[in-house]
Amino acid sequence: SACDSSGTTGENSNQPQPTTTASSDKMSKKIKIGFSMDTLLEERWLKDRDLFREACEALGAEVEIIAANGDDAKQVTQAEQLISEGVDILVVVPHNADATAAIVKKAHSAGIKVLAYDRLIKNADVDLYVSFDNEAVGELQAKAITQLVPKGKFVYIGGADTDNNAHLFKQGVFNVLQPSIDRGDITVVYDQWTKDWTPVNALANMKDALEANDNQIDAVIAANDATAGGVVQALEGQGLAGRLPVAGQDAELAAAQRIVEGTQTMTVYKPIKLLADKAAELAVKLAKGEDTGADRTVNNGRIEVPSVLLQPIAVDKSNIDETIIADGFHSREDVYKNV
Ligand code: BGC
Repeated sequence: SACDSSGTTGENSNQPQPTTTASSDKMSKKIKIGFSMDTLLEERWLKDRDLFREACEALGAEVEIIAANGDDAKQVTQAEQLISEGVDILVVVPHNADATAAIVKKAHSAGIKVLAYDRLIKNADVDLYVSFDNEAVGELQAKAITQLVPKGKFVYIGGADTDNNAHLFKQGVFNVLQPSIDRGDITVVYDQWTKDWTPVNALANMKDALEANDNQIDAVIAANDATAGGVVQALEGQGLAGRLPVAGQDAELAAAQRIVEGTQTMTVYKPIKLLADKAAELAVKLAKGEDTGADRTVNNGRIEVPSVLLQPIAVDKSNIDETIIADGFHSREDVYKNV
């Protein structure tokens, strides 16, 4: 099943569990990890779910996974449920970077540490953040596109405003674009967030961008492949697909197919297995009170959160075989199915 939503009564869901377990008990008993996810509606999160479960089990830990389907209140309630079930550690993919601070408070008052997975939780005493270098994601996108189009009218289709990553991706894009903007070589003619990252909202935004500019757009950077899908659909509607570069992120199968077909220029590949393995390994360490070896910090508005950031990889037609296909992220047959 998609998620093992558990069947506790909920009566005691606000009650912290006893935190007096002797450390010798902790060593001998199986570590139980609660994984609170935002959504399973995108391809990558299904990979995260499965790979994280595998990684936890390989480490001898037990894991319970729940997804909130983009509902902030639900994500908090589900986390409370995991806390009341006595998980040793909470791993959270926040839908809303601010709303999930409540989860950290509740977990801490029950003596449970919190690891922010892929997305940072803001304004909270997060114990550890494991992700990719998200600013680098945006930089890779903008570098690839400006190499093809050094001058012209650019559109930026951002991610969800509620996701801290969306802000980091955008920051990375503008780190690269700004000198060209300052020189007057590049004009960003449209720049909007995409509510909940959905393709349908990205499609509507891209239609607006095209209309407002009489279709005179030279390049599009979309924050991920889901939104890039909406962008390409809007371009198709105007007979423009493949006529201007489009960047995305995630190396979703549909995006990989668009890349070999020529309607999307590049994507940013984040090997999810590395993330899931690292997060599982460090979740177990945190639960055991061991050192995580986090080598850097990221400020979340409240503290410098100990962090581990993995490297993203730019992928286009020229290196798709030796990256996502060589890794088995997608099969060659699937990627080249339509060409
Ligand atoms: C993730 C992206 C993903 C997006 C939408 C971001 O926080 O880092 O990989 O495409 O959320 O789910």
